[in-house]
Amino acid sequence: MKYKTASSEEKNAIEGGTLYLVATPIGNLADLSERAIKVLSEVDFIAAEDTRNTGKLLSCIGISRPMISYYEHNKRERGPVIVERLASGESCALVSDAGTPAISDPGEDLVRLCAEAGVNVTSVPGCCAAITALTLSGLPTARFAFEGFLPVDNRPRRERLAALKKHTETMILYEAPHKLRTTLADLAATLGEDRPIALCRELTKRNEEIFRTTVGGAIERYKSEDPRGEYVLILGGGDRAAEQSPAAALCLLPPCEHVAYYEKAGMKRMDAIKAAAKDRGIPKNDLYREVNTKNQ
Ligand code: SAM
Repeated sequence: MKYKTASSEEKNAIEGGTLYLVATPIGNLADLSERAIKVLSEVDFIAAEDTRNTGKLLSCIGISRPMISYYEHNKRERGPVIVERLASGESCALVSDAGTPAISDPGEDLVRLCAEAGVNVTSVPGCCAAITALTLSGLPTARFAFEGFLPVDNRPRRERLAALKKHTETMILYEAPHKLRTTLADLAATLGEDRPIALCRELTKRNEEIFRTTVGGAIERYKSEDPRGEYVLILGGGDRAAEQSPAAALCLLPPCEHVAYYEKAGMKRMDAIKAAAKDRGIPKNDLYREVNTKNQ
């Protein structure tokens, strides 16, 4: 690729009626791009996940623009308002707390609303904690699955953990420090203590650390040390042979079809549910409820 100075081939002028997804640093202010600064200083308004946080960023770079909040708990009413302003010709920069908007934040809903309304969306790319961690992990990067935050509620969490077993590719998880020990214990119970993991902490900050170990090794370390800072967990993928086992293939089916497979093979319904639940690594009562709700 040949680099050029600003020219008509590059998207430089701010266009009205456009949503700009502006990536911001995940810890190191110097990672804010020149183009991000230009867009933030020229758009009609900024939609920020946390206006206080973005306010601090803007004051560090000497920018002042009108700001509105757009976050998980106001996205339903605020999204259409932003789309309406965009449709009337205003330009808007969407900024998340840190990193790339629409990755594990409500940005994805706003992009969908814009797409549905025919509003132009463009990106000012930059930091993303997931990709930064993946590239530093030392684990295979050719194929990976982004899993974001594991659900907190019991049942969806168990189902998601069970689904992780199917991944033969490297997995990326976000985690808060106060939940790290619980998550490591759940990962050990599901994937085994020997699974390779890289705990990528405080990326781009003074205390950046990549701890390459196994799930068991991480559990051991945090017995005597409190987890501190922001973490991305990069997990090695599972065994390809396991993926090719018949049970693993059945787990890729919707639960009802999985149970139906065993019934067609001659099992009684309760036995089929028991066998499918065992394959999926979930309690048989959960699967029973799920297939019976679907059948009503
Ligand atoms: N949109 C963001 C991105 O592009 O990475 C992610 C937002 S998500 C709400 C926040 C999570 O990202 C944190 O809980 C942590 O898991 C991860 N994260 C953000 N900054 C980080 C950093 N400097 N070091 C390690 N993990 C980080």
